[in-house]
This record gives sequence, structure tokens and C-alpha cells, in this order.
Amino acid sequence: MEAFILAHEPALRLAAFAAVLAAMALWELLAPRRSRTLPRRRRWPANLGIVVLNTLLVRALFPAAALGIALSAQSHGWGLLNQYAVPAWAAAAAGIVLLDLAIYLQHVMFHAVPALWKLHRMHHADLDIDVTTGARFHPVEIALSMLVKFAAIAALGVPPVAVVVFELLLNASSMFNHANVRVPAPLEPVLRWLLVTPDMHRVHHSVERDETSSNFGFNLSLWDRLFGTYRAQPRAGHEAMALGIPELREAAQCSSLAAMLAIPFRGMGATRMRRCASRPDLAKR
Ligand SMILES: [Zn+2]
Ligand SMILES: [Zn+2]
Repeated sequence: MEAFILAHEPALRLAAFAAVLAAMALWELLAPRRSRTLPRRRRWPANLGIVVLNTLLVRALFPAAALGIALSAQSHGWGLLNQYAVPAWAAAAAGIVLLDLAIYLQHVMFHAVPALWKLHRMHHADLDIDVTTGARFHPVEIALSMLVKFAAIAALGVPPVAVVVFELLLNASSMFNHANVRVPAPLEPVLRWLLVTPDMHRVHHSVERDETSSNFGFNLSLWDRLFGTYRAQPRAGHEAMALGIPELREAAQCSSLAAMLAIPFRGMGATRMRRCASRPDLAKR
């Protein structure tokens, strides 16, 4: 099993992406949670286009990928889990849980540091959220988060098979918790004791600042409860709440591939103009 997973990592990843995308899109069609503000054809080409772009970029920049880092860590004995005689299953389970914590902390940092927020707000600028939002991230954010993941894998000594399973899980759970789906009412509260549900993550996509600063988790709901960032429901309710970024409310600003790629750099001209107005000597240059 382990050898099969390691040998077929790229194919498994693509198959899992396609299967989860199709399943969630069907669920969205059968039981949507909210009505859309834009038709799918206005958002999906760019949201899926950026997935293709990011996949090519990651392959080009990091051909060895996270699996390569985990294999190196294992053969050199790097990282916490490689220091002790931990049973293989326990090391894999601990590796998956600790990587999930690392992704939670990284997400908090992408909101807290202004330069990182400029990148991450492209994800938040989507005016509706659905299964495709789960893979809509700026290429620079993807490259930086790969480096964070590599560092976490090497420092923790996460076993290679756990890295592949974690990446498959993260991909699937991100598409699940962004989906515009109605989870059956009796099941939802039970599910969110363990996992981040679509209703839980939707609160994080609110235009309200305090609601955006909650529910940073991707897989386990534990981290938000533990670090005090958990918020059960949006004030306005799931149907009425507004999604997106207050300063990017026009479809033209956030729904084409070119506009999405430019989002981190938006507003810089205005900052420079303000600076020039207060320093006329600089404006003359
Ligand atoms: Zn966020
Ligand atoms: Zn999100």
C-alpha cells in the first residue's frame, strides 16, 4: 500500500482532485446552501485556470515536491519524529496532525502580516464561495506555503507516506469546506466536532472583519477551538451574509485571471500618490 502510494503520487493527486471536484459540484447542484451572486461561468474559468497555473508553477519550481523533502528527511534522520523509535503508524498519524497545525498557524500569519495578506486576499476576494474557491490561491502564496511546508516536514521528520496522505486530505478537505453545499442539519454539528465544515469555513469568508479573523482551520476544527479563534455562525446568517473583501466588490476586480493575479498589487498606486502628495519633492522625480 505504502509503496503504491509513493510510486503513484502525481496520478493519485490528479484523480483525487477530479473526483472530489465532481462530487462536490454535483452536491452543490442538488443541495446548494446559498444562491449565487454571479453565474458559475463568470468565476469558474479563472478559478480553475489558476489551479492549472499553480500546478505547473509548483512542478517547475519544486520538482522533488514535498515527498522529496520527506524522503531526504527520512534517509538523513532529520526532524523530531526521526529521533525516536516511534511505531510507523504513530509517526504517520502524528505527522498528519502536526502538519495540519502548521497549516493553521501559516493561515493565521497570512492574515496577520500585511504583505502576506495582500497575497492571501485573492483567495478571499471571490464573491461567492464554492468548490473551486478551495483551490483558488495566488501563485506567490502557493510558492511561499510550499516552502513553509518543506520546513515543517524537515523539522518534524514527517514520514513520506504521511506527507502524501496529508496533501491528498488537505486538497479534498479544502474543496469540501469551501463548497456551497447544505450538510444535513443533524449531521453538521457532529461533523464539526472533528472537521472544518462548509458552514464553519464560510464564516471566515465574511466581509465583516471580526468574522474573517476566525475559523482559520482547514482539516481539524480542533485548532480554532484550542486557540480561541472559533466562531460557530455568521451574525447575518448563511443565506444573508456577504462574502468577499470590502474594497473588492466589483466582479471585474476579482473574477478574471489577470485581475486575480493583480490583486496583491492593487492599491499600491494610491499609496504612492498619497506619499507624493505629502512629499512634493518626491512627486517631481
Ligand atoms: Zn483566510
Ligand atoms: Zn477559504
